[in-house]
Amino acid sequence: MKLETKVKNTLKKIKIPKRNKILVALSGGKDSTVTAYLLKRFGYNIQGIHIDLSMGKYSQKCLKAVRELCRDLKIKLHIYDIKSEMGSSMCYLRTSIQEKQVKGKLKNCAICGVIKKWILNRESRKLKAGMIATGHNLDDEAQTYLLNVLKGAPKLSLTSGPITKNIKDKKFIPRIKPLFYVVEEDIREYSKVKKLPVNYEKCPCAIDSYRIQVREFMNTLSTKDKENIVKNSEKLLSKVKRNNEKILYCEICGEPSRNNICKKCELIKT
Ligand code: SF4
Ligand SMILES: [Zn+2]
Repeated sequence: MKLETKVKNTLKKIKIPKRNKILVALSGGKDSTVTAYLLKRFGYNIQGIHIDLSMGKYSQKCLKAVRELCRDLKIKLHIYDIKSEMGSSMCYLRTSIQEKQVKGKLKNCAICGVIKKWILNRESRKLKAGMIATGHNLDDEAQTYLLNVLKGAPKLSLTSGPITKNIKDKKFIPRIKPLFYVVEEDIREYSKVKKLPVNYEKCPCAIDSYRIQVREFMNTLSTKDKENIVKNSEKLLSKVKRNNEKILYCEICGEPSRNNICKKCELIKT
């Protein structure tokens, strides 16, 4: 099936009203760029948000690509500069968190991911967006599911899907993943065919040996295998009875959280 048809079907499945304001989390990479391009093309009401992580030349190239995309698509771009908003670059924030951790240092992407999710939810609410769209693809989803299985915690995938499941709260902005059923290689090719402004460089901080090992294994699988992992995990997890999560508000920042202190504040205070 063609990439565009797959994305159209995914969007149909999750039923998003076209007037709903969707904030697309734009990193400058191919996945989020294709996500914004297709949402705009299919007539959705989108704006872009870019988190400038202040990671030297890499971040500058990402920002350049994002600016170009938003100009071409004629959409509004919001920039969150982590240095001015949080006082330091992502590299500095991450290192200072890792230095304070006594055992089992958290990997770079795990820390970066928690902080970015926190920023996105907060900023989207401030900007009155109804949804956040991210560029996660089938490879990312299959990897995450396998990693959760290997960690012995498959239930961690319970909220995952083309739209966040099992969380409902007025302060939580639902996240959608229009590329949920599309393999990475097809997205790369599509972005090149359409000549989209993309920074194809790898993030210099993406160092997570375990995830890389799983990714290397995944690269030996066919598209069908990867689809089977994601579709069967969805089927299995849909059988797990679960009511909507009880959502609390973080005692430090007020953001929605499963615990008294949210993950981001937990990391920053350690
Ligand atoms: S690859 Fe990892 S460290 Fe780099 S921006 Fe993404 S989550 Fe952050
Ligand atoms: Zn918090």
